[in-house]
Amino acid sequence: EDYRRLTRALADEGREYHTYSLPSERMLRAVIQGLPDGISNDEIRSDLEQQGYNITSVFRMRSRRDRAPMPLVLVQAPQDQEDLLKLTRCCHLVVRVEAQRANANPTQCHRCQRFGHAQSRCTAAAKCVKCGEGHHSADCKKTRETPAKCANCGGEHPASYRGCLKFPKKLTKKTTANQQQHKIDHGASTQQAKFAYPPKVTAAKSFADAARPKQ
Ligand SMILES: [Zn+2]
Ligand SMILES: [Zn+2]
Ligand SMILES: [Zn+2]
Repeated sequence: EDYRRLTRALADEGREYHTYSLPSERMLRAVIQGLPDGISNDEIRSDLEQQGYNITSVFRMRSRRDRAPMPLVLVQAPQDQEDLLKLTRCCHLVVRVEAQRANANPTQCHRCQRFGHAQSRCTAAAKCVKCGEGHHSADCKKTRETPAKCANCGGEHPASYRGCLKFPKKLTKKTTANQQQHKIDHGASTQQAKFAYPPKVTAAKSFADAARPKQ
């Protein structure tokens, strides 16, 4: 409840950017490759649960270009389910699994379309991702001919459009470097300190590793 109040307070100030990297929102995000579109999310979920995994959500990935379903499925699970990354079979198919980097996408609420919280935590009124009106996205009557209207900025795009001016910015290089520095200040040897500003890729990886809770 405190978290919810905090999230709302921050959202009211337009500071979604800060809430989206709160550790409590972090989940293991595994991308399973090799599951064709004919297999439903429910089938995948129950197969994984039968294999003993605790699954939070299953999401069929779509091509960013034409929205066509891809043979890729994003599975979210609690961080302690990291054995998911070693999964080799699902729904009688041979699959490969890769971790999706934490914070690759900001959390966007599927109910109110705002950033920084998940639908399960949402207490706001529903807004449509397509037309911005006060109904659930699934109930939308908008036709293809009518332009989309963003629930967050009012622009002519869906509320999930990455180019929206309300879409949270990714962590900047500067922020990443600062957090890296912060980590080193707390306990690492001075030898490592000279790597305080590693190249971008290394910094991102180290940050993701640092973000993971201790096992
Ligand atoms: Zn919401
Ligand atoms: Zn609508
Ligand atoms: Zn917008």
